Amino acid sequence: MNLPKTADIVIIGGGVMGASAAYHLAKRGMKNIVLLEKEEFFGTGATGRCAGGVRYQFSTEINVELSQESLPMLERFKEEIGQDVNYIQCGYLLVATNEKDAAAFKYNVEMQNRLGVPTQLLSGDEVRARLPLMKFDDAIAGTFNPKDGIVDPNGVVMGYVSAAQKMGVQAISKAGVTGITVSGGEVRGVGTSLGEVQTRMVLNTAGPWAGLVGQMAGVELPIVPLRRQMFTTNPLKEVPADFPFVIDFAKSLYFHREGEGLLIGMSNQNEKPGFDQNVDEDFELVNLEAAIERMPLVEKASRASHWAGLYEVTPDAHPIFGGTDVKGFTLCTGFSGHGFMHGPISGKLMSEYILDGKYSTLDVSMLDLKRFEEGRLIKEYNVV
Ligand SMILES: Cc1cc2nc3c(=O)[nH]c(=O)nc-3n(C[C@H](O)[C@H](O)[C@H](O)COP(=O)(O)OP(=O)(O)OC[C@H]3O[C@@H](n4cnc5c(N)ncnc54)[C@H](O)[C@@H]3O)c2cc1C
Repeated sequence: MNLPKTADIVIIGGGVMGASAAYHLAKRGMKNIVLLEKEEFFGTGATGRCAGGVRYQFSTEINVELSQESLPMLERFKEEIGQDVNYIQCGYLLVATNEKDAAAFKYNVEMQNRLGVPTQLLSGDEVRARLPLMKFDDAIAGTFNPKDGIVDPNGVVMGYVSAAQKMGVQAISKAGVTGITVSGGEVRGVGTSLGEVQTRMVLNTAGPWAGLVGQMAGVELPIVPLRRQMFTTNPLKEVPADFPFVIDFAKSLYFHREGEGLLIGMSNQNEKPGFDQNVDEDFELVNLEAAIERMPLVEKASRASHWAGLYEVTPDAHPIFGGTDVKGFTLCTGFSGHGFMHGPISGKLMSEYILDGKYSTLDVSMLDLKRFEEGRLIKEYNVV
């Protein structure tokens, strides 16, 4: 597809955020929408490399509320968008092995229950009873919500991109944005590997690369790319179909069923910010040993695949929505490693912000860029 000369909006980045925003803007009737992706395929950034986990269990009200809007949109996805996204409600089971985390779990469950999320608080014995394949002798508490689960990230991106294209969105891949023209404090255009587009409105949905796109417009964004990696195993017949998404909270170690095997990941707390997306094989061994300690049957598994991707981390692990000091330069980014699940609602919220100047489905105005300089940070405990 040729790059148009003008657009009413240019959306930079074709992951879940850009695709959802393009779809929701078009659905509201906006015309001349251009969605640009630097790679050959949409959804090959953080979205295509993510673990696909979707959950209501967070430690801040705003994240729970984002999930309360977004996860039902994923449940209705096939009906609304026509694409199957394979939502498996296996539940998330978070495990605490120290008193500090156990106290935080209790607080979180109370808050989630107050907001209408039926998360259950479990004792150490209940955790062990639910996970007979795992060794959690040191578990002192757990939390479980049966509505949490896993969803296919590629299905979500492709569903939104195709539905947006049917409504006239020009979705162009292999179109890397190289510059943003700003004049008199306003966006005037976007330079790309395929040429220039004149526009008064840019939406930055470049995920881990959003800081670089911000710099093109002269806007500094507090977003750092941080590598995270995982691997999958060959089929393991012992793992039941209803095996939950298990998180060993203190170790940032997680397991979920992937096909007939397992997907296993762990956060490297010593990882330095950077754009390297190669698997760190040394850390993979650390991850494997930790996984075997928790789940001895992993020792007899063989690796089916492995990959790394980038978290897009902000100082308070919450996203950034809305405008900047440059008129027309708008943000929907910085989801800090849990944005896939919030993609549907975030795109909808951006359509409201761009077309109506305010958020009506859910007030996320506190998640603006200014909060960092004004010291209004929000603390999230449940991000691994
Ligand atoms: C290993 C890992 C596991 C994760 N697990 C989960 C999980 O279980 N659940 C969950 O909800 N979230 C998870 N996440 C986080 C989630 O993947 C992200 O928060 C989310 O996908 C961000 O979406 P995005 O659209 O903002 O970014 P991306 O999907 O990265 O999309 C941004 C796009 O912008 C493009 N781009 C960048 N610069 C330019 C440019 N100059 N011009 C044109 N295009 C450009 C990129 O190529 C990319 O495709 C995980 C992330 C990782 C890395």
